Amino acid sequence: MILPIRAYGDPVLKKVAKDIEPGHPGLKQLIADMYETMYEASGVGLAAPQVGESIRLFIVDASPFAEDEEGKPTADAHLKDFKKVFINPYIVEEEGTEWPFEEGCLSIPNIREVVSRQPKIVLQYQDEKFTEHEETFEGFAARVIQHEHDHLDAKPTRGRWKASDAFAPWRTRSSPAAASTRAARRP
Ligand SMILES: [Zn+2]
Repeated sequence: MILPIRAYGDPVLKKVAKDIEPGHPGLKQLIADMYETMYEASGVGLAAPQVGESIRLFIVDASPFAEDEEGKPTADAHLKDFKKVFINPYIVEEEGTEWPFEEGCLSIPNIREVVSRQPKIVLQYQDEKFTEHEETFEGFAARVIQHEHDHLDAKPTRGRWKASDAFAPWRTRSSPAAASTRAARRP
């Protein structure tokens, strides 16, 4: 079922999301619905608060970054298989020199903003079976996770996306070609 995506200003996006336990009611259906909703919106990531659930859960499918518009592999071809469910995720380390990239957000339609983030993260999370993982992610994989993780901590509506910049959304500091290929994909 396609769920309504909550937009900037909705109180659920301003709350810090809570951890969930195994057996959380309706979890399997929620994850299926979130995938359906994300694909319908051409997104590469979606956090539970964006569909009104204030719980620590997000999904990603970054495979659109793996191919260019003609279907040829990009420098991010390894993202082809980057489709995952993250439960109770916490970024425990971030490293490297921040790099800017113009991000979009399904909850902030028609606005894109350059956000600088560190390129490498270590994430603790549980998968759909609540098995614990600690894993390192880099580049775009890290960026999509950082964006979704921000939703769980209510950050996109709390400062990282500055209102002053939000009105110059087409400015970009990354390669214009890469930006236009990716512009259609919003986490
Ligand atoms: Zn977002």
